[in-house]
Amino acid sequence: MSTFKRRDFLKLAGIGGVVFASRLSGFSFAAQSSPPEEFYFVQLSDTHWGFNDPKINPDAEGTLKKAVDIVNALEHQPDFIVFTGDLTHSTDDPKLRRTRLREFRDIVGHLKVKDVRFMPGEHDAALDNGEAYQEFFGQTHYTFDNKGIHFIALDNVSDPKAQLGTEQLKWLAADLQQLKPDAPIVVLTHRPLFELYPQWDWATRDGAEALSLLAAFKHVSVFYGHIHQQHHHQTGHIQHHAAKSLIFPLPAPGSAPKRAPIPWNESAPYQGMGLRSVAAEVQKPSYTLDEINLTPKQPS
Ligand SMILES: [Zn+2]
Repeated sequence: MSTFKRRDFLKLAGIGGVVFASRLSGFSFAAQSSPPEEFYFVQLSDTHWGFNDPKINPDAEGTLKKAVDIVNALEHQPDFIVFTGDLTHSTDDPKLRRTRLREFRDIVGHLKVKDVRFMPGEHDAALDNGEAYQEFFGQTHYTFDNKGIHFIALDNVSDPKAQLGTEQLKWLAADLQQLKPDAPIVVLTHRPLFELYPQWDWATRDGAEALSLLAAFKHVSVFYGHIHQQHHHQTGHIQHHAAKSLIFPLPAPGSAPKRAPIPWNESAPYQGMGLRSVAAEVQKPSYTLDEINLTPKQPS
């Protein structure tokens, strides 16, 4: 799709101001054109470095590297890249946790874009309140601005109770106080802020408090991970978009007796895994989402 066509597409897509352009195969990146007046970032999520079960993902050691290659091959490189948590797979061993975080950092160090934002997931941070994570990646909640859009990274994982907590909510309220009601805001977080499926830990205990603070603003979109599948939802006027995982897919909310990984499909390798790019015209908080699937290995 040319840039021109994509703009038309944007104009036509009234619903929630978002276009979902799902990609069936991975390597046609013409639609990634990003003229200077657009901003564009890539979201990767739930890489679970250290996960090991060949029935679920026989390429567990290669999938993250493949994703790095896919991002590096994008025709136009994004303004920045964000990893929305569960960088590593959970372990009780603090030493192994640090080894995994280090190895993850080394692999993503091969990304051409050097503006990379990290966030923890409960696999990285819930067992030590984010201590090891912070040694490698610093703060677990923070803000930054990119081309007029205010980004807020929220940590709903370092507290094992799956909550933001009073202090972080106060910090969020203080940050929002400086913004105008029409300021475009993008929230990045790991768990959904709304009650998607609390039985499976797909919720944030005090997420509703964050959403009520954000509701005062006209243009708010939330990008998150944790549920290992593409998912789109709206609470009030706030949009919520979950990204696929880069290690294994999970079933749709409540569609299976257990929240168990969907096993690897030999006839469709990497099925249900992927990353996404998010583009917007500057000053127009209307986002185009391109879902990018991982492609099977080329036969050698
Ligand atoms: Zn998670």
